[in-house]
Amino acid sequence: MKRKTNIILFLVLILIVSMATTLFILKSRDKKNQQDKSEITYNEVNDKLREDESKDKEKKVKEEKNKDRFEGMELKNNSVGIPILYYHSVEESKDNELRISPEKFRKQLKYLKDNNYITLTLEEAYAYIKDNKSVPKNSVVITFDDGYKDNYDNAFPILKEFDYTATVFVISGLIDKDPNYLNSDEIKEMAKGGIEIGSHTVNHEKLVDISKEEQKQTLTKSKEDLEKLTGKPVTSIAYPFGVFDDNIIKLTEEVGYKLGFTINKGWGKGSENPLKLSRVYVSAFITDENFKERISKSNYN
Ligand SMILES: [Zn+2]
Repeated sequence: MKRKTNIILFLVLILIVSMATTLFILKSRDKKNQQDKSEITYNEVNDKLREDESKDKEKKVKEEKNKDRFEGMELKNNSVGIPILYYHSVEESKDNELRISPEKFRKQLKYLKDNNYITLTLEEAYAYIKDNKSVPKNSVVITFDDGYKDNYDNAFPILKEFDYTATVFVISGLIDKDPNYLNSDEIKEMAKGGIEIGSHTVNHEKLVDISKEEQKQTLTKSKEDLEKLTGKPVTSIAYPFGVFDDNIIKLTEEVGYKLGFTINKGWGKGSENPLKLSRVYVSAFITDENFKERISKSNYN
């Protein structure tokens, strides 16, 4: 009888010891988990702080850069205007006025650089025209219509050489379809390299000759496709053949464009509707003298 009691007592003791051990193990595991958790939270907070700090720094650098960009330069308000140059193809050719030779294009940019011209981004041009935010006296905007492949092959390297920006108005329906026009890789690389991409509609439609539905379709689709491709907002358009009417301007604004470029002769100024901007044509046959006149006088010949 006593032996039996001893065995029971022994078993109870073992049970108590094993329960206590399990409890201890569970508790210490819990503690470790909590420690890990708080470490994770600490690291996450730290990462977030570091991220915020670098974002702040980035923002400051950007602001400094913008401030410095116009600093020390003679500024002008939007009653004076700015020459918005437009080109098409940058390629060797003897008889096509739309194809300027790379050498001649380079010479023009060199002239701009030597005479302290800066190229405005479209955002700067918009702020100038719409909100009268002053820009340097020697400002130009460079644009290309149609999105020819040679814009990538020939114009892009020359623009980079002079650290100039420009906007290319692309016919979105020709991308990756016609080898004479920019393909998607080229457009992406240019967009990453500081070139702005604008719309030139889907199929170079003469907007006044198509229905309102078709107008809306080509204005919207080209914008969306180019935004998808570049990852950047597309808020500018050059009207094919330079034709438009009041309804087209209204529609253009409704679907989200801020700047519209025509082929009307003249400088872009505050007195103009930002969706109906005049531009300065640079033909392949232009003389050096005429080029100089077009960028220095708003009432050029
Ligand atoms: Zn065109």
